[in-house]
Amino acid sequence: MKCPFCRDLENKVIDSRLAQEGDVIRRRRECLECHRRFTTYERAEETSLLVAKRDGGKEPFDRAKVAAGVGKAIKNRPVTEEQVQQLAAKVEEKLRRKGPVVTTQEVGLEVLTLLRKLDDVAYMRFASVYKDFQEVTDFERELGLLLQKRDGSGPAKARSGRRSG
Ligand SMILES: [Zn+2]
Repeated sequence: MKCPFCRDLENKVIDSRLAQEGDVIRRRRECLECHRRFTTYERAEETSLLVAKRDGGKEPFDRAKVAAGVGKAIKNRPVTEEQVQQLAAKVEEKLRRKGPVVTTQEVGLEVLTLLRKLDDVAYMRFASVYKDFQEVTDFERELGLLLQKRDGSGPAKARSGRRSG
């Protein structure tokens, strides 16, 4: 388990508890090198989750890959590394409920759904990048629906949190 700040491998667990959904263990860790703290989410029981790709191949779901993709989208946005890790963990949790095999589109859509709640700009960035990778019309239709919902949800600037009155 690498430290997200300095990449050191040595750390100690400060606190462990089950996450709200039940079968994910949330661990608070402290890096022994830089002494910063971070949170990891680990499966209580490791069942394999596979992602079916367009070319017919399958690969194990990689949460780090999801986190890396989201990491690019949040550049210069007020989103923390911990929020990204949480998002990736939630995506994995949702996908595991769907099933031992999910599609890349399902992965992307789960990310988009959660990212949308986190940050509008990051959401749009991820959506545009992700769309480029997909030739699938299904995905575009789904994305269209997501974007429609987004447009119908009122002005985004009302959420700036600086309301007076
Ligand atoms: Zn560290």
